Amino acid sequence: MARTSSRRKPAVDYSESPATKAEAATSSTTAKATTRVEEPPSKAASKATAKAAAKRKAEPEAVESDSGEVPRAAKRPKAKAKTKAKGDDSMPLAERTAVASLGKAMYIGAHVSAAGGVNNSVTNAMQIGANSFALFLKSQRKWDNPPMSAEARDLFLGGCKDHGYSAAQHALPHGSYLVNLAQSDATKAAQAYKSFVDDLQRCEQLGIGLYNFHPGSTLGDTRPAAIGRIAAQLNSSHRETKTVVTVLENMAGSGNVIGSTWEDLRDIIDLVEDKDRVGVCIDTCHAFAAGYDLRTNEAFKTTMESFEKTVSFKYLKAFHLNDSKAPLGSNRDLHANIGTGFLGLRAFHSIVNDDTFRGMPMVLETPIDRKGADGKTVEDKQIWADEIKLLESLVGMDPEGDDFRAKEAGLQATGAGERSRIQDQVDKKSAKDAKKGSRGAGGKKTQ
Ligand SMILES: [Zn+2]
Ligand SMILES: [Zn+2]
Repeated sequence: MARTSSRRKPAVDYSESPATKAEAATSSTTAKATTRVEEPPSKAASKATAKAAAKRKAEPEAVESDSGEVPRAAKRPKAKAKTKAKGDDSMPLAERTAVASLGKAMYIGAHVSAAGGVNNSVTNAMQIGANSFALFLKSQRKWDNPPMSAEARDLFLGGCKDHGYSAAQHALPHGSYLVNLAQSDATKAAQAYKSFVDDLQRCEQLGIGLYNFHPGSTLGDTRPAAIGRIAAQLNSSHRETKTVVTVLENMAGSGNVIGSTWEDLRDIIDLVEDKDRVGVCIDTCHAFAAGYDLRTNEAFKTTMESFEKTVSFKYLKAFHLNDSKAPLGSNRDLHANIGTGFLGLRAFHSIVNDDTFRGMPMVLETPIDRKGADGKTVEDKQIWADEIKLLESLVGMDPEGDDFRAKEAGLQATGAGERSRIQDQVDKKSAKDAKKGSRGAGGKKTQ
């Protein structure tokens, strides 16, 4: 691991997206910024639309979307180290709940930092009382990474054993943001593949059984061709490794983004030769932003039935539990804290009480950045510790009871301002798009 550089920056940052910051900086680029999230604000704020489009073609390996997961390093390369909210990384913020004590075996955790070595993810998971965890196996924004050290590997294996984490079942690494398995350029495809397989090999060295990644971007090519390339790369990667299951994450975005529909995921899986080596992770924020409702019992049932019918639960391996700052079908990927977004607490109650999902890792990717007293941004991991306990408390809770309703209302009130702010942006963009359409300008084709 790149100790010095990764130590200075958080390995993961689920706070507000660069798109949102870019929008704050310039209102003239709202439409573009809402769908383009992987670029630093300076680029996203550029008014040269054509130039930006050309750049997207020139640097196609950057997979679109998932702003909620774009690390700070990508937004502010020269960002100063954040002040730590808590002085001691090892100080427990919550005790782990014995999963057997829950009415249903739900393994709730968060995407923790692996800065300084993969073994640190175990300590960081322990600290917040997580029963599952996600991590990056290497820097998610760089192509060149040193190999994993034997020391880090052994400490990871020892840490999991000592603390009773099953890496095979409940560790869910997240793939690099640079890798696009749909890449058609031979050199870039080879680079993406090499990084991908390297991650899978790291998984196998660490006894990790599931590997989550973003399917990719068509980069303007046809969807079937792009999906064919993803499957071909997966098939090769399966032959080069032995056990790890490659888990496709559903996406929020539109346009070139692959994986925002169950059909995309199904079409990739259809072409994978070894069906035991492929799975799906449902990110609740992405699903909702892509138009899959989960808010009421009925909506949840309909969405899950459509998943079962199209993809099948036999491929469902994991969840990313995130509320959404953006409304249903907005294609905006903005993670919100549990219960405070447009999804609301009931969606999460439905998930943690569904027997189908027993035993799966359920990983929070919710924002934990807070403004400190001195105005500096601080990471407050207590937020994850509390969200884990909140989600666990929902197991077996009566969703019509006073306790649930009070929690639901309180969290919705907390997020009201942020929801209204993003709703406003979405409305403005819709109005702008409608205007474009009525002028017969041949509105942008998304699918
Ligand atoms: Zn992701
Ligand atoms: Zn996710």
